Amino acid sequence: MPEMYKTTCCYCGVGCGVIVHQQRDGKIWVEGDKEHPVNKGMLCSKGMNLHYTVMDTTDRLLYPEIRYSKYGPRQRAGWDEALNRVAAVFTAIIQRFGPDAVAFYASGQCLTEEYYVVNKLIKGFIGSNNIDTNSRLCMSSAVAAYKMSLGEDIVPGCYDDIELTDCIFIAGANPAWCHPILWRRIEAAKAANPNLVIIVSDPRVTQTCALATLHLQVTPGTDIVLHHAIGRLLIEQGCIDPVFIRDHTEGIEPYRQAVMQRTLAEAALICGIEEAAITQAAHYIGNTDKLMTMWTMGLNQSAIGVHKNLSLINLHLITGTIGKPGCGPFSLTGQPNAMGGREVGGLSNLLPAHRDLLNAQHREEVQQFWGGTTLSDKPGLTATQMFEALNSGRLKAIWIMGTNPLVSLPDVRMAEAALNKATFVVVQEVSNKPETLAYADVVLPAAAWTEKEGTMTNAERRISYLPQLTQPPGEALPDAEIICRFARKMGYAGFDYPCMEDIYKEHARLTAGTHINISSLSYDVIRRHRTIQWPYNGEMEQPGTRRLFEDHRFYTASGRARIHAFGDENQSEPVSPEYPLILTTGRIRDHWHTMSKTGKVNKLKQHIPSPFLEMHPEDAAERDIEQDAIVEITNRLGNVRVKVKLTESIKKGLVFLPMHWGKLFNNDSSRANNLTHVLLDPVSKQPDFKFSAVQVTRY
Ligand code: SF4
Repeated sequence: MPEMYKTTCCYCGVGCGVIVHQQRDGKIWVEGDKEHPVNKGMLCSKGMNLHYTVMDTTDRLLYPEIRYSKYGPRQRAGWDEALNRVAAVFTAIIQRFGPDAVAFYASGQCLTEEYYVVNKLIKGFIGSNNIDTNSRLCMSSAVAAYKMSLGEDIVPGCYDDIELTDCIFIAGANPAWCHPILWRRIEAAKAANPNLVIIVSDPRVTQTCALATLHLQVTPGTDIVLHHAIGRLLIEQGCIDPVFIRDHTEGIEPYRQAVMQRTLAEAALICGIEEAAITQAAHYIGNTDKLMTMWTMGLNQSAIGVHKNLSLINLHLITGTIGKPGCGPFSLTGQPNAMGGREVGGLSNLLPAHRDLLNAQHREEVQQFWGGTTLSDKPGLTATQMFEALNSGRLKAIWIMGTNPLVSLPDVRMAEAALNKATFVVVQEVSNKPETLAYADVVLPAAAWTEKEGTMTNAERRISYLPQLTQPPGEALPDAEIICRFARKMGYAGFDYPCMEDIYKEHARLTAGTHINISSLSYDVIRRHRTIQWPYNGEMEQPGTRRLFEDHRFYTASGRARIHAFGDENQSEPVSPEYPLILTTGRIRDHWHTMSKTGKVNKLKQHIPSPFLEMHPEDAAERDIEQDAIVEITNRLGNVRVKVKLTESIKKGLVFLPMHWGKLFNNDSSRANNLTHVLLDPVSKQPDFKFSAVQVTRY
């Protein structure tokens, strides 16, 4: 009989339960877990094919490697030799240039325990806050907006609200392709309740629009104008909740003035949609007391990403649709454990358990707990800032953990130049494919999904336990083990954990007394309940907390949710006669990020086998471009050459490139991020991936 184990999908923030069946010969296959509260047995195409990524080890890094000179070949080394080398170089750099001359760039794919130890290492012992993750590229605008409006980085609701709501407003997201199992739940909710209203705002007609009651095909960069126009109509038509506003919010008057700045006609013109469409959206939102909003990168990846988020959350605060069943703002997380990373403080401006780096008391609490060095009050470099600092020589060494910045960062050619200039590059990685390996002075082979133990938290605050089911190939080690061995080489105390749960327990203890308290939650309790939503109070009847703010007491200083007011101008690079089209980037259905996993699975490569540019036929005709022609997309940063796909489903003036492809045969001509800018939201430091001015010509 094959063995059967329960674990969690490692791709996206939906967090589906997976059952892994293992035969005597070690071969595995997977199926959805019917008892799991998230997916109830369903898996999307990526999840269904997970076993191929585990069983095909032909692309795996098997041994540590070192090169002693910048242009020499790397050679196989033992773990001691490799980590001694990294410790010696890091020590020398820190002694000469200070702790801020080194940095760690990690991943939303890391398990919580892995995030915890690397964050503890650099902040608590090396003495720098230079740790950031690729979650900066994904969720940081939502994080900042939650903190500014609700007083805490917190998703108030849960997936079960989908079955309870009357109206879902999906803004700048395509869950049908990017969060497929969540989408199956929305489809099922619509089938059960045909009156469920689904509003989608997106400049493209995506698969998600197939179910939309109303599609608002807005011009990119105009989300705030749209949300403000809806806010104005709700106020004018008396469709707000004055009691909720009076008793539980602050900031309504400046907001009222801000939304009154534009007439409906002006807003419609700027958004590129009919006035009647905005009125209809406001009608739907104003006539329900059960509103959910969902969003992802269309709002987050913007130079005004935080304000876009706040403008959507404001609609909940003026209508009182938060902290109730079927209600609430719900940011859809991209990575499987972006939330777990933030729980342990794994970003350059955070400390464990959502403590704030700039808060002296928070620093003191963590320092006392860790017992290492004095915590620096200087925020560390964020994802893109790290590569700019390598380029300028301010940062000397970078340790890249489980992410492929040479596909995923904006202005990626700059990032390449930065790694070329770096004094020392460590790449800790599962696969031998990432482009970063060409720049690595030391390569550290890491264990993959099913080969290590730990926890993750999905988009609805749900913590899952992932057991180790298979052995890593070669000498690959779990990421947390690698970091702890390195810390011991550096002579730091406090990294001698007998087992993975001891790391978890230390993290859990740090959450005591915070809004994300899981201090009494053990691996055993998680396993027994399958999953638990934080915060967790051991005496609860329910396994965890499904919904927050049911008492309408928010985590701001006043206890009131804050309605923010601001202008609506887009801050992206404007189009020009030279670069008249707007480029937006995004994901396709069957690939995940930089394809180091999905690129191994033939079935997943068949859906869309090669990169393409989506373009409106009228834009193509103006340029004498025919279907399937090879086109060159250019701007002041670089160029991309791909086949064009003409479709009326994209708004005129906009073109779309998928973000997954990096270098093919050492050629970067289909890498979307050759064209995206390092233009950041001023608060969240999240880049503006969704709006780049470009020209397209026939190649
Ligand atoms: Fe995995 Fe996300 Fe698909 Fe669920 S929806 S199976 S978590 S990729």
